[in-house]
Amino acid sequence: MPIMRLKWPKKCWLVKDSLTENQNKNFMRPFLYGIFILIFSSTIAQNTDYWQQQADYEMDIDMNLNNYQYKGKQKLVYTNNSPDELKKVYYHLYFNAFQPGSEMDIHLQDIRDPDARMVHSLGTADAPIFKSRISELKPSEMGFIKVLSLSQNKKPLTYHIEGTVLEVALNKGIKPGSQAVFDMEFLGQVPLQIRRSGRNNKEGVALSMSQWYPKIAAYDFQGWHANAYIAREFYGVWGNVDLKIHIDKNYVLGASGYLQNPEKVGHGYQNDHKKVALPRTDKLTWHFIAPKVHDFTWAADPDFEHDVLETKLGTKLHFLYKRTMDDKYLNNWKKLQPKTAELLDYYNEHLGAYPYKQYSVIQGGDGGMEYAMSTLITGEREFGSLFGVVAHEMAHSWFQFVLASNEAKYAWMDEGFTTYISNYAVDKILEQKKENPQKEAYTSYVRFLDYQIEEPLSTPADLFEYNYAYGIGSYNKGALFLAQLEYIIGKENVENTLKLFYENFKFKHPTPNDIKRTAERVSGISLDWYLYYWTQTTHTIDYAVKAQNSNEVVLERIGKIPMPVEVFVRYTDNTTEYFYVPLTMMRGEKPSKFLRLKDWSWVAKRYRFKTEKPIQYLEIDPSQKMADVKRENNHWSLKTVKK
Ligand SMILES: [Zn+2]
Repeated sequence: MPIMRLKWPKKCWLVKDSLTENQNKNFMRPFLYGIFILIFSSTIAQNTDYWQQQADYEMDIDMNLNNYQYKGKQKLVYTNNSPDELKKVYYHLYFNAFQPGSEMDIHLQDIRDPDARMVHSLGTADAPIFKSRISELKPSEMGFIKVLSLSQNKKPLTYHIEGTVLEVALNKGIKPGSQAVFDMEFLGQVPLQIRRSGRNNKEGVALSMSQWYPKIAAYDFQGWHANAYIAREFYGVWGNVDLKIHIDKNYVLGASGYLQNPEKVGHGYQNDHKKVALPRTDKLTWHFIAPKVHDFTWAADPDFEHDVLETKLGTKLHFLYKRTMDDKYLNNWKKLQPKTAELLDYYNEHLGAYPYKQYSVIQGGDGGMEYAMSTLITGEREFGSLFGVVAHEMAHSWFQFVLASNEAKYAWMDEGFTTYISNYAVDKILEQKKENPQKEAYTSYVRFLDYQIEEPLSTPADLFEYNYAYGIGSYNKGALFLAQLEYIIGKENVENTLKLFYENFKFKHPTPNDIKRTAERVSGISLDWYLYYWTQTTHTIDYAVKAQNSNEVVLERIGKIPMPVEVFVRYTDNTTEYFYVPLTMMRGEKPSKFLRLKDWSWVAKRYRFKTEKPIQYLEIDPSQKMADVKRENNHWSLKTVKK
C-alpha cells in the first residue's frame, strides 16, 4: 500500500490504453556514433535480411457463464522464419496477472502513481494511500489460464509456468524455415475486471475478452519477447485466427474477426435477405476468422444493441453497446456511427487503405483500448469524449494492428503516432479549426518536465518508473516526434513519410530506424541526430535571443538539442521578414519561403547574422512548432532594452 507524496495534475494524458512490457537490449548502440556516421557517410544501408515469425491459431472455446470459466482447445501452427533453430518457446498467459501476489500486483503496490482503475484510493489528496484491487481478488474472482496438456507434433511436452509466462522446452528444435504444430488444452477463468479485460466491468458489460488465450511470445531479430504482463504494452506475432466460441444463446458478441455463420447466430449479423436458422440449443456457436492479425479480442453481453453501418468503400462498421444505458448515452452512440465512417475515410486518405473488411466499436473494457479490427471502450460518455477515444483507438488500427511495431520497446511509435494522427482527424471531422491541433502535446510535455521524472522514450514501456512519465513520454512526446518533424522537414514531407512508411511496413514490425529512414528518403534530410536526441535522451530544446544590437542578431542554443531555427523580424519601419537557419547535420533544408541563412553547426552555441535594416522586434520559432521549453527568452523588442 504505497503512499504517494508527489501531486500529479489531475488530468494528465488521454484516457487510454495500453500497456507495456518489456525489455531492452542494446538499442543505444547504433546511435552513439550517429552524428559522426551522418557526416562521413551519405546513406545507411537498409537491413535486407528482414524476417518475421508466423503463428496461425485454430481454437475452440466453451464458455460457462455460471463460473466464468472457459475450456479451450488450441492448435497453433508456428512457422520459424528466423535464421535460428528454436529449442524453447514461450507463451503469454495474461490472465494469470489478475491474482494476488502476481507481478502485476506487486508492481501495482510499488508504483507511486498507480492507475486509478486498479486501486482503491483510501488516503487524502495530500497523503494518498492506495490499495491494490488485485490483492483483494478471491479464488472465484481471479483470472487464470491453466494448461491441461501441451504437445508438439503430437508428442507431449514438459513445461513450466512462471506467472504470466509459459516456458516450454521443445522435444525437437524448430529448424529455420520449418513448422511445428502445438496442441494445447487449457482452462481459463475470466477475472473480475481490474484492467482492460475481465467480467462485469463498471458499466455492467458481461465479458471483455482481450489477452484471453495462450499466445505465443514474439521472437524477432532482437530475440524472445516473453515479458511478464504488468499492464502496459503488447507485442504479437502475425498470423491467422480461426475461432469457435460456444456461449449462452442470449449473448451478443462483438469480435476481431469475420463471422462465418451469421445465419446460425443472428443477433444483427445475418444478411437481410437470408433466413436465420437458429439451432435449438442453449448455446450458440460463433465461428470467426481473422486473417493477418496478431491479436484476437471479443466481448459479449446479453443487452448489446448491434448496429451495422457500411461505408462508401464497403467496410462494415459494427457498433455494440448496452441498450440499458441512459438515453443521452444511447444518442451519443447513434451520433458516433457516421462520424466513425468519417474517421475511417480520414485515416484511409492520410495513411493508407485499411486492409480489413470490418471494424467494431464495442462497449467494454475500462477506458479505451485498441484491438485487432476493434476497440473496447466504456460507453457512458459525453459525445466529445466518446468520439475522441474512438478516433484514437481506431488510428491504432494503422499504428499497431498493421504497422505492428514492438510497442513494449517503442511505445512512442504506437501511442505517439496514433495521438498525432487522431489529433488532426478530430480537428478536421469536428471542424474545430484549431490553429495547431498538436498544441496540447507541446504544453503537456513542457508542464511535465517540471516534475523532473522524465525518462528517455527508448525506455522499455514496463520499466518507466512512473505511469505519468510513461504516459506523457509515449503519447505526447511521441506525438511531438512527428509534429516537430513537420518543423524540421516540412509538413508535406511528413504526410508523405507516413504514407510511405505504411506502404513499406504494413504487416511487418517496423523499428524506430524505419520511420527515420523513411523520413530521410522522402525529405533528403539526415535525421539520425533527431531520432537520437528526441527518443534516447531527456535533453531539451531551448533557444534564446542573446544580444541585439541595431541590425546584428546573436542567437544562443541553451538546451542540448540542436535544431534548425526560424526567426521572425519586424524592422523599425514596420516591414517584416522571416529567416531560416538550417542545422548543418541535416545536410539539407526543408522547402521554405523564408530567407535562408548559412547553416548553424551543432558544435557552436552562438550564431550571428546581420539584417539590412534596424530591428524593432524579433522572435525565435514564431510557428511554435519547435518544442522550446522556455519561450520567455525567444523574444526581443526594442523597448525592452531602451532606458
Ligand atoms: Zn493508444
